[in-house]
Amino acid sequence: MIPGSFAYHRPASVDEAVALLGQFGEDGKVLAGGHSLIPMMKLRLATPEHLIDINGIGELKGIREEGGQLRIGAAATQADILASDLLANTCPLLPEAAALIADPQIRYCGTLGGNVANGDPGNDMPAVMMALAAIYALRGPGGAREVAARDFYHGTFDTALAENELLTEIRIPTPAPGHGASYQKMKRKVGDYATAAAAAVLSFDGDRCASAAVTLTNVGEAAIFVTEAGDALVGTAVDDTAVAEAAARAMALAAPVSDLRGPAEYRTQMAGEMARRAIRTAAARAKGG
Ligand SMILES: Cc1cc2nc3c(=O)[nH]c(=O)nc-3n(C[C@H](O)[C@H](O)[C@H](O)COP(=O)(O)OP(=O)(O)OC[C@H]3O[C@@H](n4cnc5c(N)ncnc54)[C@H](O)[C@@H]3O)c2cc1C
Repeated sequence: MIPGSFAYHRPASVDEAVALLGQFGEDGKVLAGGHSLIPMMKLRLATPEHLIDINGIGELKGIREEGGQLRIGAAATQADILASDLLANTCPLLPEAAALIADPQIRYCGTLGGNVANGDPGNDMPAVMMALAAIYALRGPGGAREVAARDFYHGTFDTALAENELLTEIRIPTPAPGHGASYQKMKRKVGDYATAAAAAVLSFDGDRCASAAVTLTNVGEAAIFVTEAGDALVGTAVDDTAVAEAAARAMALAAPVSDLRGPAEYRTQMAGEMARRAIRTAAARAKGG
């Protein structure tokens, strides 16, 4: 189908973009990579009267480390994440997850900001951001604020982002050296959204797990932070018993719908299996394996 008609704006600065968002309110929509928004517009599930294209705003593009945080501009693409030596060295979970998103063409245009702001439970980066305790920097006509990724997702296409706000930056506490992390995604074919996926980020003090974050993708109305799974791992050696308990707790929170990716029961089992694999891989990496 063909989208409804709209006016196109290409601001050159964050200030200009925020002013346009303030001016148009619910009639305006940010356009980043367009790989979720344009399909929605073609289906007439989104009918913005004004598109505000942020791709000309240089200040939204960098990837750097500052003040103990990795700071990624909202308009950095998945390809930028894959090409970043800084991320490869400090937070390899990000390129690992980016490589599992869609296909190269989509990764060249699709942005990290669009992926996390979109609110689709099928997007992979929200669960990764929750596992990494990321913070989203938002700017609106009323000023700037920060929202933790773990507090951002309220339901399907329901987030803490106000209609007139721009996500400007994703801030991730630089993971401590020696941490281990993994993103495991089951999909039917290259380019597909997850049947189920899980992220795990672990750290160890000697042979005991000192901290653990476990999250799930596409098995609920939004990405799920499984507090209980992390609790099952902390203080243990992340042995088979602890991993099985954490995976069982992840499955207990998974609530997928039955769809073309499989019946709900199957997808729930796959959520448990992805959690198991993510935790085991993260532990092995933390231990230098
Ligand atoms: C065939 C196909 C397969 C795909 N497979 C996957 C997959 O496996 N995993 C996955 O995670 N994704 C997948 N995607 C989605 C893809 O990753 C999109 O690029 C992503 O969801 C949105 O990023 P974008 O930059 O394209 O955002 P856009 O489509 O431009 O925007 C998406 C939404 O976010 C809002 N938005 C964007 N940037 C900002 C900002 N800075 N501030 C405020 N609001 C903003 C927009 O207004 C819009 O509502 C797939 C897409 C296609 C077409």
